[in-house]
Amino acid sequence: MPASFANLNLPPQQLANLGNLGYKLMTGIQAKALPHALQGADLIGQAKTGSGKTAVFAITLLAKLDPQNFAAQALVLCPTRELSAQVATEIRRLARYQPNIKVVTLTGGQPLAPQAASLEHGAHVIVGTPGRINDHIGKHTIELNQIHTLVLDEADRMLEMGFMEDIGKIISLTPKHRQTLLFSATYPDDIKRLSAQFQRNPIEVKAEALH
Ligand code: ADP
Ligand code: MG
Repeated sequence: MPASFANLNLPPQQLANLGNLGYKLMTGIQAKALPHALQGADLIGQAKTGSGKTAVFAITLLAKLDPQNFAAQALVLCPTRELSAQVATEIRRLARYQPNIKVVTLTGGQPLAPQAASLEHGAHVIVGTPGRINDHIGKHTIELNQIHTLVLDEADRMLEMGFMEDIGKIISLTPKHRQTLLFSATYPDDIKRLSAQFQRNPIEVKAEALH
């Protein structure tokens, strides 16, 4: 039977928000992954496009955010500018149950200075491409030492695009005790190596069907 979000131990405000967004039943990957992710486990999630993987990591990272602390607490790495924008939009929708959560997108094709300015007063969540995030690291415009949730979204595509080195540099600046969530449509050897390098006892969840 398809599972309801009410089965999860979410704040009632988030349940109401999910209802307002039209999220009644969890998709297959959400039902399999969220109970583990919300307990803080590292995760490898594999499910086809359109199966609701964004909500798995968005709900998880938002549940752990301290809204009073304007340091970056969650970092989501995505392969492209378009995907980063989509992910940021979805996180903002899922964050509506808490006031004043700031999500900043850092991707290429735009000057660094306005992005740096948008970080000056802090941001709870950073979403972006590995190349541009590394540019900000080089300019000392972001701090990653309070990241508690790190997400590698579409990890297979990021590796295909040659982002391995950038990803390694970025992760090396995040705390060791973070939660690391990795999502990939495929699970080749280089993804297994990436997981072995950056995750601790990850739970593998795979969903074929949507529900
Ligand atoms: P994926 O990353 O797996 O390709 P997305 O996270 O982009 O998929 O989700 C695809 C679409 O499904 C989005 O428009 C999202 O808002 C919607 N969606 C996700 N989870 C649910 C749900 N449980 N109920 C209804 N719609 C959902
Ligand atoms: Mg996705």
